[in-house]
Amino acid sequence: MTTYTIATIEGDGIGPEISSVSLRVLDALRSRFDLKFEFRPAPAGDGCKTRTGEALPPSSLSTIKDSDACLKAPVGDTAAETIVKLRQMLNLYANIRPSKSLPHVPSLRPDIDFVIVRENTECLYRGMEFEFEGGVVALRTITRKASERIAKYAFELAEQRNGPRKVLAVHKSNVLRKSDGLFSQVCREVSLNHTTIGFSEMLVDAAAMNLIRMPETFDVIVTTNMYGDILSDEAAQLVGGLGVAPSANIGESSAIFEPVHGAAPDIAGKGLANPVAMLLTCAMMLEWLSKTRGDAACAGGASAIRSAVNLTLEGGLKTQDLGGASSTSEFGAAVVRHLQG
Ligand code: ATP
Repeated sequence: MTTYTIATIEGDGIGPEISSVSLRVLDALRSRFDLKFEFRPAPAGDGCKTRTGEALPPSSLSTIKDSDACLKAPVGDTAAETIVKLRQMLNLYANIRPSKSLPHVPSLRPDIDFVIVRENTECLYRGMEFEFEGGVVALRTITRKASERIAKYAFELAEQRNGPRKVLAVHKSNVLRKSDGLFSQVCREVSLNHTTIGFSEMLVDAAAMNLIRMPETFDVIVTTNMYGDILSDEAAQLVGGLGVAPSANIGESSAIFEPVHGAAPDIAGKGLANPVAMLLTCAMMLEWLSKTRGDAACAGGASAIRSAVNLTLEGGLKTQDLGGASSTSEFGAAVVRHLQG
């Protein structure tokens, strides 16, 4: 039996509720797939800062670095001190945000299945803002190195997918001629090394419109940090909203998996949180472990989680955000039953 060490950030708000469901679901894979997980708590976030004075204590960082993967629930106001810092420290350059229609979940169309590959390290998110008399200037960085790395990731992902196998580079090179011009040029260059994958480009405003007009036509979208941030929230809404949107932050040797949504303090502690985003995040983590460790059991576990979530939704269980009345733990228990049965 293979054992994987998973650093777990329980998070704030609804974090503990969805974390406990996800750990129970991962544990349920043990007997069926010969897979064992050793969960290593890595306290981080608002609650941790109140208790210890630090949102990301060095001991938690070591736990994350020493584990096979990190499963993170959302944190509250300390996101900049935790996940933004972790992305930089561990050089998690690719933010992967899939959007796929789920059974019995309100979706703009039933056949949506695309992934946004968002560059995670530069653009406007380095926080370089400078005041001058009468205003503020914000610096936006686009480098050849980061653009090439993210474009390669997108093409390699398109090669592994069962879809139409095409990559769309999204930018605004008609206005930002130098910065987005470089991103566009590098994507074109990388496309020449992946001739079995279709390649096209779209301006970000047109992409925002077409995601609503014809979302079923997209496969892999590669874009810079801020456009990816904005488009992926739009994309989540197309297939049921934040409660069902998973994501991954991938680096050369480490990765952190987290739902797209925040700590949702408005519904915390009430059993109202939808655990689907966190469970699909677990599936992404297992797919990454399968790919990087060459372990078919992890791939099997990932697809079992996806099937169990679908079966639970098909059975009529839904949390309030999707128009249902199930609690977080009822939904989680049904997923575990499907995994065991
Ligand atoms: P952040 O800035 O940290 O992303 P936010 O306040 O913008 O946080 P969320 O915390 O994600 O956003 O919450 C936005 C809305 O979506 C809230 O009304 C929240 O209740 C709802 N929401 C978010 N996640 C879930 C979930 N898993 N289940 C049900 N509702 C959710």
